[in-house]
Amino acid sequence: MKEKNHNTPSLNFLEQIIVKDLEENRTGGRVHTRFPPEPNGYLHIGHAKSICLNFGLADKYKGLCNLRFDDTNPTKENVGYVNAIKEDVRWLGFNWEDREYYASDYFEKLYEMAVFLIKKEKAYVCEMSGEEIAAGRGTPSTPGRISPWRDRPVEESLDLFERMRNGEFPDGSRVLRAKIDMASPNMHMRDPVMYRIMRANHHRTGDAWCIYPMYDWAHGQSDYLENITHSICTLEFEVHRPLYNWFLDALEIQENRPRQFEFARLNLNYTVMSKRKLLELVEGGHVAGWDDPRMPTISGLRRRGYTPASIRVFSDRVGVAKRENVIDMALLEHCIREDLNKNAPRVMGVLDPVKLIIDNYPDGQVEELEAIRNPERPEAGSRTVPFSKVLYIERNDFMEDPPKKFFRLSPGKEVRLKYAYIIKCEHVEKDENGHITAIHCTYDPETRSGLSGSTRKVKGTLHWVSADHALETEVRLYDRLFNVPEPDDVPEDGNFKDHLNPESLEVITGLLEPSVKDAGPGERFQFERTGYFCIDPDSIPGKPVFNRTVTLRDSWAKMQK
Ligand code: ATP
Ligand code: MG
Repeated sequence: MKEKNHNTPSLNFLEQIIVKDLEENRTGGRVHTRFPPEPNGYLHIGHAKSICLNFGLADKYKGLCNLRFDDTNPTKENVGYVNAIKEDVRWLGFNWEDREYYASDYFEKLYEMAVFLIKKEKAYVCEMSGEEIAAGRGTPSTPGRISPWRDRPVEESLDLFERMRNGEFPDGSRVLRAKIDMASPNMHMRDPVMYRIMRANHHRTGDAWCIYPMYDWAHGQSDYLENITHSICTLEFEVHRPLYNWFLDALEIQENRPRQFEFARLNLNYTVMSKRKLLELVEGGHVAGWDDPRMPTISGLRRRGYTPASIRVFSDRVGVAKRENVIDMALLEHCIREDLNKNAPRVMGVLDPVKLIIDNYPDGQVEELEAIRNPERPEAGSRTVPFSKVLYIERNDFMEDPPKKFFRLSPGKEVRLKYAYIIKCEHVEKDENGHITAIHCTYDPETRSGLSGSTRKVKGTLHWVSADHALETEVRLYDRLFNVPEPDDVPEDGNFKDHLNPESLEVITGLLEPSVKDAGPGERFQFERTGYFCIDPDSIPGKPVFNRTVTLRDSWAKMQK
């Protein structure tokens, strides 16, 4: 029996591994992880999970986490993506200090390592075309076709590999392959391609290279070169692990070998997460860009109003699983509500206005009423809201002929106007179509509540804005981008885009209390009784544009009851 129990339930399986490694001094006391994005698109919430995990483990165990760009495919990658990725990681609250690396930093070393493998008869230059290699791979139960070049002399492969590098051969005419096992049940072990010839300008190395390493060849060796102790990746790389280990063995690397551990990728319902599909949405104009507030990208979530803390909390609650699962979008929404409930100042805003006139309120009088900024944070203090004779309330807060349990406004009934007075509905004005154009009320001057509340109680409390003081603003009401839980789950002839939600964006004009006039992009508010909203970068000074982050309805909290 061991004296220590590593199955502490509060530790996830990766933490348990690290704790054990530290106890057994397996890594010389070091914990070194990395987040290795390919700069071929913007980061999404799945990447956020990986970032929180890798940087989080390094923080927790006093280790280091590198940011490494896996930039081995110049035709799909660019510096714009590199910069966006850096901005997103920083915004999430993580710091890679001076450890910003690129697989392309290692091109020369990887080349030397490949030469070493050729000399050891563990790699060879193959002149089959890409199609021939693909066609000859076989199936898991039938062996692949052995390349006619597999046993060519070492000297010949060395010469050809050098000439590949020197640009003597056309693109696609030759590759360098590892010499492993064309009959392996693991398809990744069937003499995988290590280098291909590709005349493409690289965002860092320019035209210095016309051969580029394959991801599988570059990835494990990059981890080794960076002294990574725990190479954490998603489950689909489990079948690549034998190949990564084969490369390390073939290179005769014994010390400081990175070890790979796989966890289940984050899947979220009501969205898609592959970069290829997200790019398709952007290029097809289905969204306004990578940072469209409906996108599951980090930049989209930021613009939508999500906070870094809410995403970190979400990532934590999702946990680290060893099996595929799908997380409910409602959990992500729950996390931002929880954060904003605590931290977002309250304001009143009417999104579907109907006029309300207080007939017995003095013409021209304006009262500045005191209103709490945030009941969850008394230290946030108060604001003032102007009150006058003509107001707006939400159209659906009034019913002419209400059902029994309707506690909002209806003829003859009383409600409180938040922070203000109790009013009573006397009659309504309608246009020739029967559409209500104004609600006439009287108020009880003895019932002004201010901050302390008043003596008389009524069942309903409504938000409102003063017509003369209201700020007219553009409000973008966002909803889920897809209208089915699994948009990826489509029949053969279908497409995930068939499930785009046509009502994912509605743009309206809202009427807001004037206190928000000078708020700037990124500021977040709760519109009382309505939802959480964030000011969009499209705003101009004095004219804020609001994005709806989430409504107040929390289906996650309900599900947990
Ligand atoms: P996608 O499959 O979405 O196009 P990718 O996996 O090709 O993305 P990379 O840039 O290679 O994107 O990913 C960088 C890191 O983020 C990898 O270590 C990968 O395992 C991790 N990652 C990507 N998607 C997820 C996810 N949904 N959940 C957790 N980690 C993820
Ligand atoms: Mg990848």
